[in-house]
Amino acid sequence: MRLSRYFLPVLKENPAEAQIVSHRLMLRAGMIKQQAAGIYSWLPMGYKVLKRIEQIVHEEQIRAGHIPLLMPTLQPADLWRESGRYDDYGQEMLRIKDRHDRDMLYGPTNEEMITDIFRAHVESYKSLPLTLYHIQWKFRDEIRPRFGVMRGREFLMKDGYNFDLTREDALHAYNRHMVSYLRTYERMGLTAIPMRAASGPIGGDNTHEFLVLADTGESEVFYDAQVPALKLGDRAVDFDNRDEVAAICEEFTTLYARTDETHDEAVFNQIPEERRCVGRGIEVGQIFYFGTKYSEAMGATVTTPDGKRVPVEMGSHGIGVSRLLGAIIEASHDDKGIIWPEGVTPFHCGIVNLKQGDAGTDAAGDGLYKALTAAGLDPLYDDREERAGAKFATMDLIGLPWRITVGPRGLGNGVVELTSRRTGESEEMSPEAAVARIVEIYAPHR
Ligand code: ATP
Ligand code: MG
Repeated sequence: MRLSRYFLPVLKENPAEAQIVSHRLMLRAGMIKQQAAGIYSWLPMGYKVLKRIEQIVHEEQIRAGHIPLLMPTLQPADLWRESGRYDDYGQEMLRIKDRHDRDMLYGPTNEEMITDIFRAHVESYKSLPLTLYHIQWKFRDEIRPRFGVMRGREFLMKDGYNFDLTREDALHAYNRHMVSYLRTYERMGLTAIPMRAASGPIGGDNTHEFLVLADTGESEVFYDAQVPALKLGDRAVDFDNRDEVAAICEEFTTLYARTDETHDEAVFNQIPEERRCVGRGIEVGQIFYFGTKYSEAMGATVTTPDGKRVPVEMGSHGIGVSRLLGAIIEASHDDKGIIWPEGVTPFHCGIVNLKQGDAGTDAAGDGLYKALTAAGLDPLYDDREERAGAKFATMDLIGLPWRITVGPRGLGNGVVELTSRRTGESEEMSPEAAVARIVEIYAPHR
């Protein structure tokens, strides 16, 4: 993309309404525009990152064997009357009447609807295991929408639902979700720690939240200092292998890591003192095993191998797709702006032409742009008639991880400059070498 033709409405001033850095930077970098409290338009660059995050979520869900579909945002109230949640959900639910005076709602989550789909089409244990998920907009009329996309009213969520014959099968689905989430967040450059969360209605160790450590997080968290260092890395996982998947979950959940809701001071104090960490975290996902809560209420049953009919075992698993943009920025920025991890960056690299209008630099800038594009990459070429300082400030603000600077002086020596946004370090090399380096950097991310 040529910046001269793009739509990137950056703000010079710090917007007064933004209390935390990610919100401020998303507004300043022209990624979002608020339309009503907690409701945002996604401007082109914000939309690009949102799509990148969505893509990673899809890839990792599909890798785990889960199947995408798409349910609507609007739901009939009757489904929620069946589960008993229509009255329970309270003011957070946006209730709507259609022209025939029928009660509708903008879905805050989809347990009821997915259970309805299941009961309409699945009869036998032979169709199990089954995990269906979608990435769809949700609405929750939050009492205090704030922090930009972090706590919106309309927000994008991946929500997945597993259907299994037995509790053991459902716990395997739970574990599969945990492992797939670990990889999902790591690909976004995040350390998201699974923490035991408040247990659900059936009790026991059946829900974990994933938290990204950040001072601006809304949850208080307690963890062993060794936990953030745990990484899944690029190890291959056979998602059908229960023992293997369970062993990874054990590796990531044995050390102490809990939110304030489940924190146990006595257990925490058994950790050596220098390893006891107290901090704050942003919840970017949650997995939940709830057994037959919805299937019993809504009559979602399957036949067993010996011909009985039993309610299907279920769980639900969510990722806060739009909240992740805020969480990534909270975890990766400096005083000049955003620093995108390679996995989610809106453009792979920036090209800055220091002397727009000069035949030599224009030709070199265009050449780099074409070579990177031909290599399947997506560069942002700052070809505006602007001062070098303004161009650098924009690049630093929008946070592309790599920048190639083209100027008459370097070109005289046959070189351009490749700069890392994260370290600020620059290296001179030929334009061809710079393209080759960018291609190499992104190879693991494509
Ligand atoms: P919270 O405790 O932050 O209100 P929740 O536990 O109610 O979230 P879930 O029902 O577990 O949320 O939804 C799954 C994920 O969706 C959460 O982990 C979070 O990342 C995201 N999410 C929830 N509410 C919002 C919101 N208002 N704005 C943006 N993302 C949200
Ligand atoms: Mg939650």
